[in-house]
Parts: sequence; C-alpha cells; structure tokens
Amino acid sequence: MKKLLLLSFPSNLTGEPITYTLIKNYDLKINILRASIDYNIEGSLFLEVEGEGEKLDLSIEYLKIKGIKVKVINTAIRIDEDKCVNCGACTAICEVAAITMDKNWKINFHKDRCLDCKLCIKACPVRAIRSIV
Ligand code: SF4
Ligand code: SF4
Repeated sequence: MKKLLLLSFPSNLTGEPITYTLIKNYDLKINILRASIDYNIEGSLFLEVEGEGEKLDLSIEYLKIKGIKVKVINTAIRIDEDKCVNCGACTAICEVAAITMDKNWKINFHKDRCLDCKLCIKACPVRAIRSIV
C-alpha cells in the first residue's frame, strides 16, 4: 500500500530522525517529495510511503503520538476546470493515465491513480494544473 503524507512538526521535533524511525521500525519505503525544515523552528515533510497496510497505519499513529500533524493526501494535484481548455497535453505526459480524455474530448482526473510526480504541471500551456503543497 502507498500513501502520500504531509507532516508538519513543531520546533522541538525538527532534530528527530523521523524518516529513519519510519523505515527501521515500520519497514516502510520512504520517498521524500518535499522537505522544508528550519532547525528549531518548524518543519514539514511531504512523503510517499509504501509498506504493509497495518504497519503504515501504526506508523501514522506513532507520528501523531509524537505530536506531528499528519495529513493523508490522495494527491496534491488540482486541475482548474475553468482554466482548462482540454488540449490533452497533460494526458500525454502522465505515465499512469491519471488524466485521460473521454469520448467527448474532455479530460478526467483519476486522483486514485495519481503519483503526484507533478510532470503535468509544466506540460499545461494555460497553467490549469497546480500542486497544493
Ligand atoms: S502528477 Fe504525475 S501522475 Fe499525477 S496526473 Fe500529473 S503526471 Fe499524472
Ligand atoms: S494540459 Fe492543461 S489545458 Fe490541457 S487538458 Fe491538461 S489541464 Fe487542460
């Protein structure tokens, strides 16, 4: 099972080996998609975590008990339908078919398939795609 987690942690936890603990104690594979840490001020981490379902749930509990805010994100990608001109450029770049074109030449976004790679953002000529993190 894979999940995208946005972690926000307070100043007293910025020096903690959070990702190391997740890997070592919960057998998770961690891909750091974005990190913003000001030592002794605050920090945020956007992680793709992969592992066995129960261990993943336990790891989230561990983070919460530590005082870390955990937001489970399906994907941080958002498509503005008002801006989109249905040109299809994003469908060509998306390797997992998270954006497809229907028979009416209108795009559909399948959030459950999206890996949050963000390649589609640059592909969009009218900047209709953005990431919320
Ligand atoms: S972020 Fe990546 S996986 Fe998600 S829709 Fe865009 S190209 Fe596809
Ligand atoms: S590239 Fe942008 S304008 Fe074109 S279909 Fe995708 S979201 Fe819409």
